[in-house]
Amino acid sequence: MRLVIKHDGASIDGAPRLARAAGTVAAAARARRPASRGTVAVCSAIGGTTDSLVDVARRAARRDTEGTRSAVTAIAEAHRAMARRVLSEEAARARLLSELDSEAGELAALADGLARIGEVTRRSADHILSFGERLAIRVFAHALAAEGAPAVALTGGEAGILTDSDFGEARPLMDTTRHRVARALGPHLESGTVPVIGGFAGADQHGRTTTMGRGGSDYTATLIAACVGADEVWMVGESGGLSSADPRIVREAAPVASVSYVEAMEMSTFGARQMHPKTFEPLLGTRIRMTMARPAADPAPRAPAARRLDMESATRVGPTSPRTIKCASTLRHNALIDVRGGTMVGEPGTAAGIFGALAREGINIMMISQNPSESSITMVVRRDALDRAVHTLELDHLGGTIKGIDVVPSVAIVALIGSGMRGTVGVAARALGAVSQRRVNILMITQGSSELNLAFAVKESDSAAAVRALHSEFSLGQGGRRR
Ligand code: ASP
Ligand code: MG
Repeated sequence: MRLVIKHDGASIDGAPRLARAAGTVAAAARARRPASRGTVAVCSAIGGTTDSLVDVARRAARRDTEGTRSAVTAIAEAHRAMARRVLSEEAARARLLSELDSEAGELAALADGLARIGEVTRRSADHILSFGERLAIRVFAHALAAEGAPAVALTGGEAGILTDSDFGEARPLMDTTRHRVARALGPHLESGTVPVIGGFAGADQHGRTTTMGRGGSDYTATLIAACVGADEVWMVGESGGLSSADPRIVREAAPVASVSYVEAMEMSTFGARQMHPKTFEPLLGTRIRMTMARPAADPAPRAPAARRLDMESATRVGPTSPRTIKCASTLRHNALIDVRGGTMVGEPGTAAGIFGALAREGINIMMISQNPSESSITMVVRRDALDRAVHTLELDHLGGTIKGIDVVPSVAIVALIGSGMRGTVGVAARALGAVSQRRVNILMITQGSSELNLAFAVKESDSAAAVRALHSEFSLGQGGRRR
């Protein structure tokens, strides 16, 4: 049994939470020693630190040397204060404080240098942002040792994560990463030491620090799990598991007990929980089971690790799941563009021309539909890209293939997600019926042939009513068990 446990920033924010997190990992490590083969911890930066580091980079870019310095000092001081509260043993505390001082010293020197010249590149920003996790793993590793679990702190790069050099959005080079991670972690796991790996960052071929995009620690956790052949990965965070709807919209929303990787991917794109979009990629094709849970409120002091999670609100994610509908979700702040023109009919290449022009402008299209009469193509883009999109289409096509462009500036995408739709007749009819009963007008409908996601666009002001209608029609607040 191999287990990767990832803690998010909020779940280690403050000495009591950090001790609780270390308690969970230590309990897992105890259970797995010596016969079994290891527990790995992955952690995010302690709550809010990455945002503070973004602020450090901004100040440095403005040549605000004083402000840069005081922001770094505040970060360092917050970690020192935590170290003092978490460790009671004098010698261990002194060691941790000196480790933190050396990390903070490096950060201060770097930030100061950048502030003097007022230049922060994507590369140097990544280096700065990586310090949140660099500080967190020091504290976490010592907290584990204090719980009786020997631990070693490793940055993503030290753990073997090799990425390309696309700073800020680096992609891991999987084949090499797999070897390197196995080599870097193997000896620790064999000897019963817990590797504590900083999420979010890796290193490129030249050893330069890269980051994989905000929220990247989730991705680190599944990457590592795939590389070490883990059986399970636990994502521990204050937000718990996935929900049948946003509880701010639907009062009866409830945790979904079980979803498949692909469903989880759909749900996370639809904002079911703030997760890195690539989190589930490394799991595809594996049998790794994921549990997303929040920490249990009051675990017994010697409770086994699994009892330290709140399983009531947890979601299990695996290769398959019961074929049900899992959630109703909405993505707001989008806009709809409808382009029409008589010459589009039966004219191959029209769609390619339109989408190509938008792609060259870096505009992402979230939904597309064209009806068989071919007289118009409707698409949804983010609202902040609307002006650019319309402008591009006007410049490129208006007067040619396109005769007119209509826009609805405030639309939301509403989606029903779950494998229960696959091969089931009548889901779309029920969904549309339920929505229309609330007098919500549907502007556009799409469903991919995977049948995992039935999505439609509505006016933004209608989105909450549409989500509530779907949630109640499909009885979603019941763990997704009924259809
Ligand atoms: N610390 C990084 C962030 O705040 C990565 C993460 O927490 O997952 O985005
Ligand atoms: Mg996160």
